[in-house]
Amino acid sequence: MTTHQDLIDRDRKVTFHASTHLRDFAHGDAPGRVITGGKGIHIVDKDGREFIDGFAGLYCVNIGYGRTEVAEAIYQQALEMSYYHTYVGHSNEPQIALSEKILELAGPGMSKVYYGMSGSDANETQLKIVRYYNNVLGRPQKKKVISRMRGYHGSGIATGSLTGLKAFHDQFDLPMDGILHTEAPYYYHRAAEQEGMTEREFSKHCATRLEEMILAEGPDTVAAFIGEPVLGTGGIVPPPEGYWDEIQAVLDKYDVLLIADEVVCGFGRIGADFGSHHYGIKPDLMTTAKGLTSAYQPLSAVIVGDRVWQVLEQGTGEYGPIGHGWTYSGHALGCAAGLANLAIIEREGLTANAAETGAYLQERMAATFGDHPIVGQARGVGMLASLEFSADPEKRAHFDPSLKVAPRIAAAAMEENLIARAMPQGDILGFAPPLVATRDEVDEIIARTERAVNKVTDELTREGVLQTA
Ligand code: PLP
Repeated sequence: MTTHQDLIDRDRKVTFHASTHLRDFAHGDAPGRVITGGKGIHIVDKDGREFIDGFAGLYCVNIGYGRTEVAEAIYQQALEMSYYHTYVGHSNEPQIALSEKILELAGPGMSKVYYGMSGSDANETQLKIVRYYNNVLGRPQKKKVISRMRGYHGSGIATGSLTGLKAFHDQFDLPMDGILHTEAPYYYHRAAEQEGMTEREFSKHCATRLEEMILAEGPDTVAAFIGEPVLGTGGIVPPPEGYWDEIQAVLDKYDVLLIADEVVCGFGRIGADFGSHHYGIKPDLMTTAKGLTSAYQPLSAVIVGDRVWQVLEQGTGEYGPIGHGWTYSGHALGCAAGLANLAIIEREGLTANAAETGAYLQERMAATFGDHPIVGQARGVGMLASLEFSADPEKRAHFDPSLKVAPRIAAAAMEENLIARAMPQGDILGFAPPLVATRDEVDEIIARTERAVNKVTDELTREGVLQTA
């Protein structure tokens, strides 16, 4: 019989893993794990060890694991017609029905859907749309795109440039030209309160910084702004009060398109169909992936608003068919999975559950960690939450990065059979459970997290990093 260790040893020889210390993994000095199954909010490894997946994979398995209904939809579609390309007007039934459903959820003003396989390729499509749009409008100099520090939009050359995290730029000569980063809407991190700024004032400040950047670059050179309704991989940070209204006003003033990157927030995660609905954002373009299929198949969707669509139509009138396409766009199996997934979200009221049980998650996080000696902030919205650790919460002091506090707490959580994610920048532990999580399951997530945080707090005290009270 193949053991777990056999599989890991074989994997070390042949696979290149994302976000992994490649040498340590290849040489057996970093852990591996093979996942073999899952049900609800749990996953199981090859040894039969069961974990609560407090991060829904990579915040994507919204309907939870082991949903046979989705597997059957994929199977039936595969028997019938697994693939045919969607170039030059070819289509398939699930693609048509899924586009109708996505546009119904997106609401007024949204016009068309273009499919890809990942959030990264969907944002590549966005960048091409933005370029095309301004070329058609006869302003070829209007091409720069502004993203935010700590934003996450993918890890290709262009989308990795949009991403505002150091680890995704260093060693890759990124960001590429024409992509700029403005201030992150990170009220806590900037210790704004210490400067006496209210949240609203900080939002205004972020909008002013954006406006200054647009003016410095020249408004006729700035084409688009991209942002996640809630900063995700950059730390799970809900925007400060009034942020999106302020930003939107600046973008409107300078005729800059707004791309809402809904890859994490879309399809229920924060208790609304889209993060844009929750915050009253009126995007020109939306990027979705993850929760669209709950990762039962890789699928992303770019949603194009009317204003942009009109120009795309005009452009192909002038220049002929658009020079853009992926072999797997509108893949029938992906679209079948998406339809089955969205049907489950609707039937089981998972968006409402994300609002209700999500509010309970936020309440329990705040009650349990609000005054914890190493927690600077417990924050989040819906089923998206994070704990930011601090050596001195009152002063918002950082731990020495070499202590790797968040990864140690994530490792301690693993010992409790709970998966929470040490976010890539800063001492932040992220949570994004499947939207099917119940209050009891939230209680269990909190209990295991508390034991993990306390364990590392004790270690840090013994190491002399923290003073004993
Ligand atoms: N956009 C956001 C907001 C994301 O969180 C992610 C991935 O986490 C992406 C884009 C990129 O998606 P993918 O990893 O599917 O390329």
